[in-house]
Amino acid sequence: MFRIPVLLAICCVARLAAADSEWWSNASQHYIFVSNQPGRAYLKTVQRELEKAHRCYGIIFPMGNYRSEKGKVRIFATRQEYLDCVGKQYAWSGGLWNPNKNELSISPLDPKFPADIRRRQLHDTLFHEGFHQFVFTALSSRTPSPWFNEGCAQALESMDLEGRYWRIELAPWRINNARKHIGGIQLQKLLDMDYKEFYGSNVDANYSRAHSLMFYLLVGAPAEKRESYSEIPRKYYMAMHNHKDPVTATKLAFTGIDLSTLSKELVAFWSNDDRVAKASDNWTLKK
Ligand SMILES: [Zn+2]
Repeated sequence: MFRIPVLLAICCVARLAAADSEWWSNASQHYIFVSNQPGRAYLKTVQRELEKAHRCYGIIFPMGNYRSEKGKVRIFATRQEYLDCVGKQYAWSGGLWNPNKNELSISPLDPKFPADIRRRQLHDTLFHEGFHQFVFTALSSRTPSPWFNEGCAQALESMDLEGRYWRIELAPWRINNARKHIGGIQLQKLLDMDYKEFYGSNVDANYSRAHSLMFYLLVGAPAEKRESYSEIPRKYYMAMHNHKDPVTATKLAFTGIDLSTLSKELVAFWSNDDRVAKASDNWTLKK
């Protein structure tokens, strides 16, 4: 999720302007950070994870010369300040990408959770929201289609470096969700959805189906050498660069693909424990 109403974003800026003197900044290769936290340790952790995520996205979706500016990241000192900025409707979140402000907001960690859970939550949040920021910047301030944007962000959030390779870990709840929703998938409808409909009354099913589709295209199809499917994410990304229109890019990415056959393939993949496990185990991406 990454949307924030414009009005709220403006209020947020005004509120922060009053406390300008407390804010300090720090830059890394691809990001500029601002924070009002007294210490630097948390910012350094966020910085390391986001740069790591950026390297992973850049391998899957090469940036070439597209990128011209560093991504902005704001790290709040208190949970309340974060919530005042993002709004009550995002009270469940630990970080949020806001394309209206061109800024990624990050909450401090909740001390009531054990350290390993906090680390995992932070990693997943930064890899998820970081993808929204990465692709928006790489596409010259354009938001791609929800099936691609939310699908990739969810599929990529569990990636991490193990030595020289990227690995992926699929949480059991993701598999359960995929099985719950994949049977009712109407692929054309999902591909045609705008954000209003995607975040509407069937939001949970839409998230799950977008994840199921993108995990298969990014991880399952390459592991099983199904090139016609594994080429789709890169085709969409390049078409967004060339045509700058999500509807055209979706059409071009799926040219020559029979959606009814792909739907059956998705149902078969997610119903088969061995295929799901092997795809995750065999998938690697070199650093
Ligand atoms: Zn998201």
